[in-house]
Amino acid sequence: MNKKGVLVVFSGFSGSGKGTIMKKLIEQHSDTYALSVSATTRNPREGERDGVEYFFKTITEFELLIDNDEMLEYANYAGNYYGTPKAYVEKKLNEGYDVILEIETQGALKVKAKYPDTLLMFVTPPTADILYDRLKGRGTEDDEVIAKRMAQAKVEAEVIDKYDYIVINDDIDECVNHVHEIIKNTHDRTVFRADTIDALKKGLTKY
Ligand code: 5GP
Repeated sequence: MNKKGVLVVFSGFSGSGKGTIMKKLIEQHSDTYALSVSATTRNPREGERDGVEYFFKTITEFELLIDNDEMLEYANYAGNYYGTPKAYVEKKLNEGYDVILEIETQGALKVKAKYPDTLLMFVTPPTADILYDRLKGRGTEDDEVIAKRMAQAKVEAEVIDKYDYIVINDDIDECVNHVHEIIKNTHDRTVFRADTIDALKKGLTKY
């Protein structure tokens, strides 16, 4: 790999299946994609490991990372800091990997403002009713939590039109393939093919 990779930001409602999609995508194409591990000040959930799902930080540690300009972006979500450490993302992009950030919408829009060539994708179930049914069907959340998630979805839906693509998660495997195709096609955007364009121009000078 010698070309720079594409920075891909993936957001979606809680219950959209975005975590599963990302996991499958990376498993199927580990030679192409690198998944960024975020830092957060929230407490680890059952089974979560430091450095795998997240880097778990204290507020002081997190604020030091911000002050030292080590974060690509960060946001406050549900009372906790979440952010993307910059070094890993830059290293992997330079190595030619497409780097995936699974982050919420405020952070996503900050990344796009800073790096306009970022590919922003928003994943959603086909309808609001299906979203509700999926959250209810998990059986792990009480009605109050589900109502909060639906309210959060309403807020997030306000910025979907700022994303480059909306991806409908109906059938999970189809969705994974579709996401992969979109990312692959993004490599043909002229902005990522500057060397091809230069070579063509050079070749044409002979004539
Ligand atoms: P959870 O606490 O459920 O793991 O994540 C809550 C939300 O934070 C999710 O929408 C997740 O995508 C988002 N998130 C995770 N990491 C980051 C990050 O590095 N930056 C931002 N802005 N959001 C993140």
